[in-house]
Amino acid sequence: MALRFFNTYSRTIEEFQPLDPAGRAVKMYTCGPTVYSHAHIGNFRAYIFEDLLQRHLEARGYTVERVMNLTDVDDKTIRGSRAANLALGEFTAPFKEAFFEDVETLQIERADAFPAATEERFVAAMIAMIEKLIARELAYQAEDKSVYYRINRFPKYGHLAHFDLAELRSTGRVKSDEYDKEHVGDFALWKAWDEEDGDVWWESPWGRGRPGWHIECSAMATALLGEQIDIHCGGVDNIFPHHEAEIAQSEGCSGKTFVLYWMHCAHLLVDGQKMSKSLGNFHTLRDVLEKGYSGREVRYALIRVHYRAPLNFTWEGMDEARQALGRIDEWLRRLGESAAAATEAPEIEDDKFSEALDDDLNISAALGHLFEQIRESNRELDRGIEPARARAWLNWWERINRVLAFAAVEEETPAEIQQLAEERTQARLAKNWQKSDELRDAIQAQGWAVRDTKEGQVVTRRAGA
Ligand code: AMP
Ligand code: ZN
Repeated sequence: MALRFFNTYSRTIEEFQPLDPAGRAVKMYTCGPTVYSHAHIGNFRAYIFEDLLQRHLEARGYTVERVMNLTDVDDKTIRGSRAANLALGEFTAPFKEAFFEDVETLQIERADAFPAATEERFVAAMIAMIEKLIARELAYQAEDKSVYYRINRFPKYGHLAHFDLAELRSTGRVKSDEYDKEHVGDFALWKAWDEEDGDVWWESPWGRGRPGWHIECSAMATALLGEQIDIHCGGVDNIFPHHEAEIAQSEGCSGKTFVLYWMHCAHLLVDGQKMSKSLGNFHTLRDVLEKGYSGREVRYALIRVHYRAPLNFTWEGMDEARQALGRIDEWLRRLGESAAAATEAPEIEDDKFSEALDDDLNISAALGHLFEQIRESNRELDRGIEPARARAWLNWWERINRVLAFAAVEEETPAEIQQLAEERTQARLAKNWQKSDELRDAIQAQGWAVRDTKEGQVVTRRAGA
């Protein structure tokens, strides 16, 4: 069965056919975080949906080239850096770093490039695009010295969001780019410097200023992936005005269809409302880890519901994720024991997991199938399974787990914990049990656990709070 996705642009399910004439290479652009604070798990719902998409495409033999931008200059980052009394770059650097750590904790495949909006070559690309738009009368400099996109010169404006243009056209310009408020009308491409920008500005043909948020993505996508890309993703709040503006800018410059498939995920909710910084109802990944949950448990909790269905965040949901992973772990442990003596492994011919994902990433059906197979193979284990059959099940799991990435990854133990563990090994060799126990307590106090096995000590992150 062919791979098919819901395209926000057409509002229909479409068969996936990449631009690449060979039908193999896929270019994907994903809107990344605004690095003015730690990303919250609502943001990560979007990134995990994109990760599922990329991994499934790869499982189906496509070669994905993905770009995720970092918005490191906008109203929020400037406001934050001024409040912290830091240069913009100094202010955003730790949030960029934290983001990459979180990406790793959640087993999200790294994009091929993470362009930052403040990089000189991208600012130059933004300016070049704006010049082109002005030359085509799609943009103009207004009295306030900022440059705006003239939306009523772009007839497709509003198509992505399925908005009534008559309403949009009648309204005035909006300079701010904070998209949690719904903006209508002409949008800023270049924002003339004002006092609130402090020392954040670039020279341009229109005087000192800085790029608007929307042009950042158009310019970086084009610079790294070309004028046309296959898939562009984000959360539904990105549809308007951000992605609508991207289409107007990119197509206004190239005259070509910018994106073939627009894919958007529904929000992560808290008590029926969008998890967001502005509502104050958010949890960062770090908050959730501090409560004793692991990265894979968060990944499970965020991935398990179809990306177009809203997902309510609850602690019960986190516990369900823990239970589900516990079942998988126990199943793998049993299979591992039974498979130890296997010399060969016949294939288990079962593609239903991937077929479910072919259907617009139907993860609930895919996971449903996984748990059915776990039930089935547990029955086989109860009856006494052949080692080769157990090995075959493990191979089957490995294949689907390349997409799920649920494996219990051995988190790298920090140097100080390794040091304590080493001292504990020495204490045990010297039969100093009191010291050994003290060291175990010290390790636990730092959120790690130590188990003594036949092969020696095993140090893992402590589960449960
Ligand atoms: P931002 O850093 O606010 O620009 O958001 C980064 C990404 O996270 C965008 O793709 C947003 O659409 C997405 N996003 C923000 N809040 C949520 C949420 N509560 N649920 C799902 N995605 C979200
Ligand atoms: Zn974007």
